[in-house]
Amino acid sequence: MRSSLIIFSLLFFFIQSAWSKDILPKYDIILPPSCSNNRGEIVQFQNLSSKLGIFSAGVAKRNQKGKPMVYRFNYEKSPKALQIFIDLHECAHHQTGDLDQPHPPQNSSEHMMKESIADCISALRIREENKNGKSLIIDALFELKKTMSILSFPISSIKSRELNIKNCFKKNISSKLFILGVLKKKHYIK
Ligand SMILES: [Zn+2]
Repeated sequence: MRSSLIIFSLLFFFIQSAWSKDILPKYDIILPPSCSNNRGEIVQFQNLSSKLGIFSAGVAKRNQKGKPMVYRFNYEKSPKALQIFIDLHECAHHQTGDLDQPHPPQNSSEHMMKESIADCISALRIREENKNGKSLIIDALFELKKTMSILSFPISSIKSRELNIKNCFKKNISSKLFILGVLKKKHYIK
């Protein structure tokens, strides 16, 4: 445990100093996708960057005024494919009404289910909205797996996430119908 912590810290400082010396690439930040939530409210995207943040990430939330938001952290540190994937994943949390429900405990099966559904919708939209959807999903998966293994996720969870995303990409259903199915299951619609 301790040695992995030390390795992680060393890695962190290596990546951090590489970025500050501009050795690692910086990417242009893409325009956000169209996104509205289960109540039809438009979701706004906001870029945030921290000097210490070494990975790109997104968070779906309501702001202090109650407006649905996706906060985009350190997007300049990841290529376009991963930026697209994270945007659509976070949008999916809004589309499926996750923010109207209490947040399930981290790593609970309910939490994992919400994450797989958001990944699935992201994969479906990447396929629908891009001519080169297949190469985008391959690139996004490559970046996701890289980040998850640096963050010491178990191989089993990396593999099952990858499998879910690949299966969804091949699903014979549109993202719209898939989302309707999720909303019906949650009894948001009849
Ligand atoms: Zn999520």
